Amino acid sequence: MIRKSKTITIEQLLDRVVNYHPRADQDLIKKAYNFALQHHKDQKRLSGDSVITHGLAVAGIVADWRLDSISIGAGLLHDVIEDTPAKIDTIKKQFGKEMASLVDGLTRVSRVRLRGSNNEQFIENLRKMFLAMSRDLRVVFVKLADRYHNMETLEHLPPDKQFGIAEETLEVYAPLAERLGMGQVKGELEDLAFMYCFPADYEWLINYSASHYKRAGERIKKLKRTILEELAKEGVRAKVDGRSKHLYSLWRKLLRPENERDINNIHDLMALRIITDDVKECYLALGLVHKLWHPVPHLGVRDWIAQPKPNGYRSIHTNVFLGDGQIVEIQIRTGEMHEQAEHGAAAHWYLAEIKSKNKINSEGIDRGNFFSPSEKMAWVQQLAAWQDEIIDSGDFIASVKFDALKHRIFVFSPKGDAFDLPDGATPVDFAYTVHTKMGHQACGAKVNGRMVSLDYHLKNGEIIEILVDRNRKKPASSWLDFAKTRLAQRKIKAALKFSI
Ligand code: MN
Repeated sequence: MIRKSKTITIEQLLDRVVNYHPRADQDLIKKAYNFALQHHKDQKRLSGDSVITHGLAVAGIVADWRLDSISIGAGLLHDVIEDTPAKIDTIKKQFGKEMASLVDGLTRVSRVRLRGSNNEQFIENLRKMFLAMSRDLRVVFVKLADRYHNMETLEHLPPDKQFGIAEETLEVYAPLAERLGMGQVKGELEDLAFMYCFPADYEWLINYSASHYKRAGERIKKLKRTILEELAKEGVRAKVDGRSKHLYSLWRKLLRPENERDINNIHDLMALRIITDDVKECYLALGLVHKLWHPVPHLGVRDWIAQPKPNGYRSIHTNVFLGDGQIVEIQIRTGEMHEQAEHGAAAHWYLAEIKSKNKINSEGIDRGNFFSPSEKMAWVQQLAAWQDEIIDSGDFIASVKFDALKHRIFVFSPKGDAFDLPDGATPVDFAYTVHTKMGHQACGAKVNGRMVSLDYHLKNGEIIEILVDRNRKKPASSWLDFAKTRLAQRKIKAALKFSI
């Protein structure tokens, strides 16, 4: 189920890059390779492989995400400062300021030790890590690729080290990938960590789920044929594929009380994915699907195209009855949405390049000019916001761990704007997220049109309307007992202090 990267040569790496980026700076990549090769010389990894195979693998993963030449070069060079006598000034002289800054960022990140630290150290170290990353988003991508390959080769490390690294992957790197909308990467990192963090459950689940995955796969094959025929009749050109649920995410779902560890309660073990050329065809396909099979009322249709998730995810999900008592999830999206769902923030760079082929020269693209907040991508704003919060105050450092990396829910304003809140958030948290004044003046809330109390626990997908009292000046101190976000806590405290 887990895709393992193969060892690649520099020639294969270049092929991979030119495939998606014909104007890539091949000389730069070759130069980075030779520099890394010369400096790592005969250094070996615990697996017995030479260190350069690791650099090549990391650069290869970066290329799978279709990033620019400098990111690929940084993948090759990411360990030279840390593990060899090479100096950052030399990198600067030979490769330029931008490459030096990227490699420097990666070196800083790799010096941060998160595992084994106590809570305070952990937060402080996480702060350092985010600071290094937020200089240039490409640091995050190359770091994720580095972690990815380290997880793939974790078996070569001593068992006492394996657990710590796998745990850190689950706690920090997988959520980070998720926040950047890199759904595929998140799922794979979690699966790679699963067997080290929870070996007994992993074994159990592998055995328990095998026959179910197999049967679901056969069912999907049949469905695929039916849907392709229907689509063809309507003249819709689409790709139809099955996708298996990641093992770790299946396990988390089985552990939810309502599922009672019974795999028959899980309806998206395999999902069918329809990938169309444009948005109009997504809705056409949805109509065809519902003509063939009835949607399941309580599971409903979720339209993340009309209302994208804050991390940029877009897709339509529907659950339908197959007529034999089985339920299957069908996901519908365009090719562009698919690219973004798989590679998230990284895909954004590639898609921007396709769109602007004629408008912007390749130099501009290769300089990574597309990592611009003006693109209004939710993820850019998110990372920028993290950085501000982190610098802001010690209080906010905690929020990085407690808010940003925990489970999130998505709720909506009556106008349909999506808000990303931590699990357990209340209408008060929502109000403060929208506007400080709305928070201070909140006197009631409606969820999906129904009155609820201000300490109500919001659930995924709910629509929240805050009722305000224009004459009200300050919040109630009792809100501090249930407000979940650091933001709300801080605003309430500030308002109360001020008014006394
Ligand atoms: Mn490395």
